[in-house]
Formats: sequence, structure tokens, C-alpha cells
Amino acid sequence: MTTNPKYIFVTGGVSSSLGKGIIAASLAKLLQSQGYRITIQKLDPYINIDPGTLNPYEHGECYVTDDGAETDLDLGHYERFLNVPTSQANNVTTGRIYQSVIDKERRGEFLGKTVQVIPHITDEIKRRIQILGNSGDYDIVITEIGGTVGDIESLPYIEAVRQLEWDLGEHNTCVIHLTLVPYLSAAGELKTKPTQHSVKTLMESGVQADILVCRTEHPLSEGLKTKLARFCNVKKEAVIESIDASTIYDVPNLMLHEGLDKVVLNQLQLKSDVPNLERWNEFVKRHKNPKSEVTIGLIGKYVELQDSYKSILEAFIHAGAEKEVKVIVEPIHSEYLSESNIEFKLGHLDGVLVAPGFGERGIEGKIDAVKFVRENNIPFLGICLGMQMAVIEYARNVLNLKDANSVEMDEKTPNPVINLMESQKNVVNKGGTMRLGTWDCKLETKGIAHKVYQSEMITERHRHRFEFNSAYKAQFENAGLIPTGFNPDTGLVEIVEIPENDWFVGVQYHPEYKSTVSNPHPLFVAFVSAALKYKKKK
Ligand code: GLN
Repeated sequence: MTTNPKYIFVTGGVSSSLGKGIIAASLAKLLQSQGYRITIQKLDPYINIDPGTLNPYEHGECYVTDDGAETDLDLGHYERFLNVPTSQANNVTTGRIYQSVIDKERRGEFLGKTVQVIPHITDEIKRRIQILGNSGDYDIVITEIGGTVGDIESLPYIEAVRQLEWDLGEHNTCVIHLTLVPYLSAAGELKTKPTQHSVKTLMESGVQADILVCRTEHPLSEGLKTKLARFCNVKKEAVIESIDASTIYDVPNLMLHEGLDKVVLNQLQLKSDVPNLERWNEFVKRHKNPKSEVTIGLIGKYVELQDSYKSILEAFIHAGAEKEVKVIVEPIHSEYLSESNIEFKLGHLDGVLVAPGFGERGIEGKIDAVKFVRENNIPFLGICLGMQMAVIEYARNVLNLKDANSVEMDEKTPNPVINLMESQKNVVNKGGTMRLGTWDCKLETKGIAHKVYQSEMITERHRHRFEFNSAYKAQFENAGLIPTGFNPDTGLVEIVEIPENDWFVGVQYHPEYKSTVSNPHPLFVAFVSAALKYKKKK
């Protein structure tokens, strides 16, 4: 549509956690709905190469792309809003930037020069920002810069933005600065000073915000917008109110109402149109007007943090809207589950999802949970570690292999029903070495999975080192736990089911990563339906 790609930068000030990712995704949705080809990129100023080695307590969920990148959870929002896959190029960290520059230095490519933050690190940042733009696949690239202006770590990124604005020339870039306008209840007033300071900090690095998006708990008056415009050097229509919303899926419409898309397109000298949000609005309507509700237990060990299972929670929202069902997700800490309290904690649920995870903490509670739902025929979905726990539970309690385990938890278990994958045996480094990204899976026609996907071959995203041990396949099958999905090349078991139960499915992959507003994941949709059916029956 356009000849040169245009670049939008989203920076943040005053506070972290203002929701830059949602604002970027909402703006992208509005631009995409006017016919522009959009992608969003996240630059993270930390030194880890990627968030794959970060604990969910530190950084929330690690999102996995088709090409196997372990990325920031904001990429999940981008995909869920836009329904366009992201890739390795959509998430860049300081660690990755330095690694490229240092590798280049070791190859002697700097020809004897002193390697410095400016220009070498900033050049590498600029190159990474433009990789997506230069691909020819996008009209507009939105780059979200993690962290807050004024942080030492963010400085090279802001400097790269300043230089790119000069390199690319007028009307090819736009800087959106997201700030907080706090309400002081003692004074009964919204305060603009933190925003003024934040814009000033940005200006000290030579970057002038074109648009202010102001997070607020109360509406901004016209007077306040005028004041912010005057003090911060922006046009009044470029002061955008971003009021707290009851759901993130309302934000595109709130931004439309405030005219964010128009101001951006005007700045970039691109044509603006009325966005076609018909399908989006249909989804929001269904999400907000459920006809029934189900309660699903989410058994995990990071349940106190809402970001740790972000994609799973969002996938339930998509599936719920599809079925016009309100899905109440009840987080249940697996560490505090035991046979003595299981009935009390799980007895009232309409479905149970046992979550992905790593390491030993909380696994016995997950196994107890699987036993309870299996014996009571409660709909069950096990994802990755959740599927592995279902296999261990069946081995211990049905096959009577009391010491069955995963070698992840007990290296010397006499019955390693979950084993280290052959391809992992010589792996030493932890970062980026799991079985990652999209793999094919062939479905057996007899299972629930085949019915749900309505296809014989599917692709799903993975993130694991351990697998179902095929040496036990016949034993499981004879007893009633049936593998129904396999990797067509290696034969790895990707799905197990218990046909004797009404709905019992464990998957080695992560279906939640692929659920979007326009494409709710079929497995989640079917699981919600099964929970509804179970609720009506009980
Ligand atoms: N820890 C398990 C493995 O590595 C499961 C991983 C997961 O749940 N993502 O195989």
C-alpha cells in the first residue's frame, strides 16, 4: 500500500506496567482494519538473550513463536489482536544486540575500530528495527520499547530512535509516549506533572513525543488536555486519554473513539479510513453477554501471578466468547493440593486444566488433581507438563507402576514413563535449547483431537525437553490411555486421551499460543463445551 515502510515508536514514562503492549496492539488493530499491513516489535532492555531462561515470577509467561523464539508475553497480545504470526525478529533484547556486536568484533569486522555504544550498539539496534520494515511484508512497523524513559538501560534505544527519526526523515516516523496521569484523592485532582517530567526526560535525549497516550482512572477534561498539549509540545488532538477498561479487548474501540489512529496516520501522511471492526466487535459483544457460565480450575504453581499463564487465560476468553459462555478460571496452587483436600478444592469444578511448568515443586499436587478428575470423569486438559503428569498418574494408579516418574523429577526412576528426548541428551546449555516452535502432528482418526481439529495433520508450538516414553506405549494402550497424535517424522507422542472418560485430553504442545480473537483455538473451544455439558449433567 505504501512504498516505504513507516515506523511508529512506543515509549513509556512515569511508571512501568502501563500497558504499552496493549496500546501498541490496539493501534495496530485499528490500522490493520483500515487495510495496512502491520507488525509489532518489542525491544527489551535487559541483558538476557531472551526471556526463555527467566522465571515467570520475574517476567510472566514466556511466549513461543512459530519459528521457535522464546519471547516476551507482549508478542502474545500482538498475535491475539492481529492474527498475524510473529517471529524471532519481533523480540530483541540488549543481550542479543551485544552478542551480535561482540561476535562481529571477534570476526574482525570492525577493522580495528574501537567498538562503542554509539555508534556500534545503536547501529545494531537500528538494523534490528528495520529488519521487519525492509522485508517488504509490512507498511507500518510498530516498535515498543520496554522499560521506562530515564532508565540507564533504555538510553541506547532512545538514542537509536532519535537517529532513525533523522535518517528516515519527516512523516516516516511517529513517537507515541505512554504516561500515567495519577488521581490524587486528597486533592481530588488528576495531576499532569509526572507526564510533563517524563516528556522532558525524553526531550533530554533529543526525542520529542508526537503523541501522548495518558493512562488514567478518570476522564481527562478538555482543560487538562490543553494543559498537557501546551506543556509537552504536542497538538491537543494528540493528547489521547486511555482510561482503565474492564477488558483489554475494549481498548481498540477506546483508542478509536479518542482518534489515536487518525492522529498517527496524519503524522505519517497516510490515508485514514473508517476501520472495519465488525468481527472484532462481534467477539466483544459475545464476550460481554454470555448465556451461561462454567468454572474451570487452573492447576499450576505460579497461580498468584496473573501474567504467568497469560495465553491460557486469553485462550479461555476467546473460547468462551465463541460458545457465549463465561469461563471463570479458578487458580489452584498445586503445592497445597493433597488427597485429603482434593474433593473440597476440585469437587465443584466443571473442568480442570493442569498447566505447563518445569521442575519438581508442586508436581505431586498436579498428579493428585489428575487422579481426581480422571476418577470423577471431570473434563480434563493437560498442557505440556500437565500432559506428562496425566501419563505419570495413569502409570502409578492404573498400570500399578508406583514408582513411575519423569526423569526430569527423578533421574533414576525405575519407570521413566516420561523420558528425556533423544535430541536433548547431549544438550548442556539451558538457553534456547528446548524443542521449540512449530512441529507437525498427525492425528489418529479415532480420537477426540481428530474430531476437534477436523484435520489429519496439524501444527502446534512446543517448548519442552521431555517426552512420553514410547517403550510403555503398548502397556498404556492396553490399559486405556491412548496416544492419538504423533510427530510424523520421529513418532513422538504429542497427544494422549482416555476414551473411557467423556473428555480427557493431554497435549505435549501449547495450544494456547495459537488462540486469537479471530481464531479461537478449537481445543479450548471443545474443552469449554465439554465443561458446559458436564455442568448441565451433574
Ligand atoms: N518440564 C517439561 C519438559 O521440559 C514440560 C515443559 C512445559 O510444560 N512447557 O518437558
